[in-house]
Order: sequence, then C-alpha cells, then structure tokens
Amino acid sequence: MSENENVTGVLEILHYPNPILKKQSEEVKVFDDELEDFVKKLFATMRSHDGVGLAAPQVGVLKKIAVIEYEEKSYVLINPKVVDQHGIQEGEEGCLSFPGLYANVTRPEWVKIETYDLHGEKTFIEANGYTARAFLHEMDHLNGKLFIDHLSSIKRNAIKKKAAKHTGGHF
Ligand SMILES: [Zn+2]
Repeated sequence: MSENENVTGVLEILHYPNPILKKQSEEVKVFDDELEDFVKKLFATMRSHDGVGLAAPQVGVLKKIAVIEYEEKSYVLINPKVVDQHGIQEGEEGCLSFPGLYANVTRPEWVKIETYDLHGEKTFIEANGYTARAFLHEMDHLNGKLFIDHLSSIKRNAIKKKAAKHTGGHF
C-alpha cells in the first residue's frame, strides 16, 4: 500500500479500465491497527476527490472494505452483505474510477446491510434513498461489479468509449 501513497495519506485511485476493478475482493479476517489506518486513508482519499464513497479495490486493495460519507454521516463497511431490501429507485450515479461520467442506475429504495465494524463486531445498518444507492454501489466494487454493468449494452458502450478518452486508452 505504501507505494502509491503520498505524504497526506491520500491514495491513488485506479481508473476504468484497470483490470483490478473487475476482480473479486477477499473477506477481511484480521481487525487490527493496520485496518484502521487503511480506513483512515480511504476516507482521506474519498474526501480529497469530493466523493460520497470509495471501495478498497479502487485504490488497488482487493479486500472487502468501503467507506461512505453523505449528509455528514460516515459509514465503514467491512465484509458487507445485503440481508434485506425493498422498493426501487432510479437516479444518476457516478464513480471516482470514471471521472466526469454519469448514468442513471436503478437500485432498491431501501436496504438492510450486515457489516462488521473496525473491531470485528457484526452490526446492521439500514439505509434508503441516496445513502442506500451509495452502499450498493460500493458493495458492487467489492464483487468486481461496476455501475456500468447495470446499464443496457448501448449505454455501457457509450460510457466505455468516453472512459477510454479520459484515461488516454491505457490498459
Ligand atoms: Zn465507484
């Protein structure tokens, strides 16, 4: 992790189509100071980009860890799972790995999530609206799924083309 870290603890964010973004993350098994330190860096990196959420794979770490911050509330998700959901919402979504690109994505309106805190205690979080959307977007990242995977192939290809321009077509 130290290689792509700068002096302020802000990590480099990987952009699509970096292949790491499509990989499955592993469960966190050790809840130690290193985990807490990494979560702090995720928050610092997310805030430095004015993001609402950031998942570990977006900084090249394939572990089930994500942070969300919306309306002055912060959440840490570790090994999160959706245990209940209802309703449907449609709204615009972006991603720090697709700078400047947005698309309408359909998501459940309400979710109940089983997650672990920094000390390894299991907790449950309920969320609706935009917070639920942010949780689900970040949890997708932990399974190698991106917001464009929710779109029709026509819309997905249009975004892929634009993303290639943004990143200069590397990878
Ligand atoms: Zn994202």
